[in-house]
Amino acid sequence: MPAQVCRLFGIERKSLGVRPSRRARQRSGWGEKMAKGFEKHRQRREAITSLGRPLARRSGSRCELCESSGVPLAPAELPPLPEEPELEHMLFLCEPCTRELDSRKVIDALHLRVLEKTVWSSVAPVQVLAVRLLRRLAANHEAWATELLENLYLDPEIEEWAGQEA
Ligand SMILES: [Zn+2]
Repeated sequence: MPAQVCRLFGIERKSLGVRPSRRARQRSGWGEKMAKGFEKHRQRREAITSLGRPLARRSGSRCELCESSGVPLAPAELPPLPEEPELEHMLFLCEPCTRELDSRKVIDALHLRVLEKTVWSSVAPVQVLAVRLLRRLAANHEAWATELLENLYLDPEIEEWAGQEA
């Protein structure tokens, strides 16, 4: 390693041989990053849970996709996710519908027959999820879904959002 002379003090020092301080190493530490990630995740979960009540009100305590009532319902976020959880990017869903949202493939086409009705929802995130699932069903050769999509008029904003699948 080449030695350098400090121009101000005439002290010889190695240009690259400085070992970062313990604190600097801790600052960039993997463990700390992980801890921060978990903390961020926990805060997000908390914020999502706190939106459960307004979601229950909006949905009338029914699954917003399949309209099931009297079943466990939970808030779910619709990707792409905003910086902070927002009501307008969330849905109140039953377990089977949450699984459809989280999956990349159709799980239960029969359960999703209800989209014939839901796709006309005036709640934007509900309509967006319905359109995405219908496109998935159409790709799965479900003729009814293809037909429904052909007859569907979408607001350009909904169309754009539906296309932003993560
Ligand atoms: Zn449902």
